[in-house]
Amino acid sequence: MFDVLVVGGGVAGLSVGALLSRRGVKTLVAERATILGGRGKCFEYKKGYIVDYGIHALRMADNGAAASIFRMLGENLEIVEPKESSLYHEGEWSELPLNLNAIMSSPLFSKEEINELLGGLGGVLSAQPSKYWDIPLSRWVEENFKSERLRWFVKEILAKLLLISADAGETSTGELFDIIQAFVKSGKGAGFAVGGWRSIIERLSEIVEENGQVRVKAKVERILVKDGRVEGVVVNGEKIKVDTVVAAVPVQGLFKLVEEKWFSEEFIRKAKGMKPTMGISIDYGLATKACEYDTFMCSDPWIYGAATSNMDASVAPQGEQLLTVFSVLTPSIVLNKERAKMELERIEKKLEEMFPGIKGNVKWKRTLILGMVDGAALTVTQSRDKRPGPETDVKGLYLAGDTCNGRGAGGDIAFNSSSNCVDAVLRTM
Ligand SMILES: Cc1cc2nc3c(=O)[nH]c(=O)nc-3n(C[C@H](O)[C@H](O)[C@H](O)COP(=O)(O)OP(=O)(O)OC[C@H]3O[C@@H](n4cnc5c(N)ncnc54)[C@H](O)[C@@H]3O)c2cc1C
Repeated sequence: MFDVLVVGGGVAGLSVGALLSRRGVKTLVAERATILGGRGKCFEYKKGYIVDYGIHALRMADNGAAASIFRMLGENLEIVEPKESSLYHEGEWSELPLNLNAIMSSPLFSKEEINELLGGLGGVLSAQPSKYWDIPLSRWVEENFKSERLRWFVKEILAKLLLISADAGETSTGELFDIIQAFVKSGKGAGFAVGGWRSIIERLSEIVEENGQVRVKAKVERILVKDGRVEGVVVNGEKIKVDTVVAAVPVQGLFKLVEEKWFSEEFIRKAKGMKPTMGISIDYGLATKACEYDTFMCSDPWIYGAATSNMDASVAPQGEQLLTVFSVLTPSIVLNKERAKMELERIEKKLEEMFPGIKGNVKWKRTLILGMVDGAALTVTQSRDKRPGPETDVKGLYLAGDTCNGRGAGGDIAFNSSSNCVDAVLRTM
């Protein structure tokens, strides 16, 4: 008998399970796949290579959402931080201007532009993000920056990197303000979990098991509801009686699990229509070290890269290199095979220009064309205030995961929504 059943063993479901377990709540986490981790899964992909599912950076490193869950659990999450981020732009490398010093010395901007940028960012830091949830970023940028270069910088560098925003015309200005404020307050950039997200997933899973259970190959077929209240679930054909269920799955798929009739029309419309972010990810196992930078970016084609093994030698065989690149793209490219293929070729051509000879160094590569990267794109119609909270119209049914209301983007939302969800569950127990 379990007090709570969590559907989904991604980082959100495992965080919920671990937090509940440490609060003495007997929890079963049911994951339909053969391994845990969902979109954050991480495993030995080739001998000696521990590979995340694409780049998996932790925004704000030790001060970010994953580290905060670990602190709540009384645990330490080991995180490494890149030395600096580099930008490849128009054939030149420079430091990515993400801090005051780098902005002041960036070859990208004139003196006037630096002053205009610092003035604009000053306004961002003192603004209330909630007042800007509904303002499209491209509009705000047009109204607030005269320089074309700065408009490009905010939309193509800041928003794409911090929010994984594919289209500034849809991106919520409030979400960008909120994340910039969070970064500045934390005093940290991005970090990477030592040993990849596997170390997060394995530890969370062990903690669930202290007082509960984690099952893989356990597909939840149905959440059973009677008179508006949860009464159990069906897992692999077996009925399990439980009155509290957390659906830690992307909300777009919720109605495969539970009948629509229990929810408001507005909730159903929003949940089904929630737009994810999309993109292309390529991992390379390189015979020798081809990239000296820990992390880097290029804006055309848009590429964010991490040579994870430069920061954490444990993820690649000695002397070799694990390099991952990611490009955030619109659905019109990702969902069109021909266009996706062309974009992939453009990315690989650019990498050869950035790192001459890299092609001949590749031992293996994994290409992922992804219809869902983050569960919710941070658009004006899906800003934090508009995404679902942990409680639902059904008594005993709660939500967690990166399509929920939670601060940040992608994994941050998954982690942050989990602690919100646990608070809601415990309030009714
Ligand atoms: C290539 C890539 C790069 C990314 N980079 C970053 C990054 O750098 N930083 C960051 O913060 N985030 C990043 N993300 C996003 C991050 O991976 C996700 O936000 C996070 O993993 C979402 O976790 P989740 O638990 O909410 O959802 P999921 O990971 O989707 O977990 C849901 C789980 O539920 C399971 N499930 C679904 N239906 C059922 C069912 N019926 N029964 C049982 N189980 C079920 C699924 O198999 C899955 O394991 C990236 C994502 C991708 C794809």
